[in-house]
Amino acid sequence: MTRTLTCDLAITGGGLAGGLLAYALSVKRPDLNVRLIEPETRFGGNHVWSFFSADIAPEDRWIVEPFIDHEWDGYDVRFPKHRRRFDTGYASIRSENFDTKLRTLLPADWPVKAGAVDLSPTRVSLDTQVTVAATGVIDARGAADGRFLDVGWQKFLGQELQLSAPHGLTAPIIMDASVPQLDGYRFVYVLPFGLDRLFIEDTYYSDGAAIDRDELAQRIADYAKAQGWDVTAVLSEENGALPVTLGGDFEGYWASGGDAAKIGMRAGMFQAATGYSLPLAVRTAAKIVSMQDLSGEVLARELHAFAAAEWQIGKFYRLLNRMAFRAAEPAERFLIYQRFYTLRPKLIERFYAGKSTLFDKARILAGKPPVPIGRALKVLQET
Ligand SMILES: Cc1cc2nc3c(=O)[nH]c(=O)nc-3n(C[C@H](O)[C@H](O)[C@H](O)COP(=O)(O)OP(=O)(O)OC[C@H]3O[C@@H](n4cnc5c(N)ncnc54)[C@H](O)[C@@H]3O)c2cc1C
Repeated sequence: MTRTLTCDLAITGGGLAGGLLAYALSVKRPDLNVRLIEPETRFGGNHVWSFFSADIAPEDRWIVEPFIDHEWDGYDVRFPKHRRRFDTGYASIRSENFDTKLRTLLPADWPVKAGAVDLSPTRVSLDTQVTVAATGVIDARGAADGRFLDVGWQKFLGQELQLSAPHGLTAPIIMDASVPQLDGYRFVYVLPFGLDRLFIEDTYYSDGAAIDRDELAQRIADYAKAQGWDVTAVLSEENGALPVTLGGDFEGYWASGGDAAKIGMRAGMFQAATGYSLPLAVRTAAKIVSMQDLSGEVLARELHAFAAAEWQIGKFYRLLNRMAFRAAEPAERFLIYQRFYTLRPKLIERFYAGKSTLFDKARILAGKPPVPIGRALKVLQET
């Protein structure tokens, strides 16, 4: 027999977006009766999520603050032609700690271990013979139908490594593209998690999403050896393929996720250039906690408008992605990033925050194009 549970807000999906929203509601709207519905034993899956500190507005920082595991006051990039240190802060969240902290911070009756089978703006049927009747439902179950998007891929294997001696790094290396260029634009990403502990990710901006796990693991081992780091243990591992959006049908993508209100990847809320969704998940949570009317229809309408506006902002970044993926030879994609990282730090900060000014855009596109001019013009004409 089906049991009905009533609440103010039902959030389906206790990943990054759903988890941050639930936490934000517990702080700002403790009067509400919320349910965070997640079928897995852990909130957040298996990820290391990172973000540039400048991507989060100071007034929204509280939403992410309790979950931060590591924070650095700068980062490095390395290319064949130059190396550079930036003083923009960088921070990481590890999903196992995200789960532990979220369970401590949320009211005890908010987490529900179940899978959502059917959703409407005000009802969720669960696979546990329970129906949740809510004033509003928010769907945060991860990506919707990717066939509506035209994408390239940022794919990677990351490993947390124990070393026999201190590594000597004082800041993350966000891109070390001085490595051999393979399968598109390749770079290594390194986070110093402790004096003798590193997270190393072998990353590719590639046309396909497939990876050969063993091959990438070997490349990580080779990279560590070349840096003089003696690895004594692999402590954990993650892999993924993030969409780098080149174009697509936003309305089709939105509709493919159902008619309830949506947040996170399901709402297409990820930065077009990087595939990162954390900053937008924080802004979305800040928006929702400030809304008075949290009824299903209003949430669906408001969040659709919010996501559609972000998709518009992403237009310029999708154009750049098309330049990188369609106009540049795969082996020469790195030239685009090598040049980009000679630009001014504030311009780069605004770029990652999705806040490039008209002048920034002109600056990024102007100058000697690192892609063949004929192909660059073709991409522009198609736009
Ligand atoms: C390995 C990896 C690393 C990443 N690193 C970064 C990064 O450094 N910075 C960044 O900003 N972004 C990063 N991303 C991209 C993006 O931020 C993450 O994918 C992020 O987890 C997306 O958040 P989300 O809440 O939309 O989806 P998810 O975090 O995937 O959450 C979806 C949740 O819904 C649950 N779910 C699924 N089906 C159901 C159901 N039927 N009922 C209820 N719940 C369900 C899932 O179990 C999951 O917990 C990374 C992605 C990957 C894959």
